[in-house]
Amino acid sequence: MTTISTGSVVAFDYTLRDGAGAVIDSSEDGTPLTYLQGHGNIVPGLEKALEGKAVGAHLNVVVKPEEGYGEWREELVMKVARARLPKSPAPKVGMELQGVGPGGEPMHLRIISIEGDSVNLDANHPLAGQTLHFDVTVRTVRAATEEELAHGHVHGDDGHHHH
Ligand code: ZN
Repeated sequence: MTTISTGSVVAFDYTLRDGAGAVIDSSEDGTPLTYLQGHGNIVPGLEKALEGKAVGAHLNVVVKPEEGYGEWREELVMKVARARLPKSPAPKVGMELQGVGPGGEPMHLRIISIEGDSVNLDANHPLAGQTLHFDVTVRTVRAATEEELAHGHVHGDDGHHHH
């Protein structure tokens, strides 16, 4: 029986709940999430829990922030002048913006408050600081292709698309 190890392409259904049991996210009906094991495609705590599991395995996994989306970090909250943000649509609390991090990587920013001419942006992942409760069922496991291993992600209908 094929079990999950580094280089496995895995499809799984999941429901993600917070500590109070509220559903945060889930795989869509009949469409499992597909990822490449061992390449950081999913949060480390979940990747670790799936290692060695086979098709049909059902897991309840509790992932602490340090193995999930990280601790919430004060230094990722920044104040910028409203003039530096796009004029349209007008900035409002809760709006998400795309920025560029110090290494050129894309950064997702959320407007958390607006005070006169300044806007406070939070670059923390929306799930930073949260303990994640995953309910997971493994659907398929296959070996990755050479190309998938080289790219570090899954290709094909259920994976990454190149343009
Ligand atoms: Zn690729």
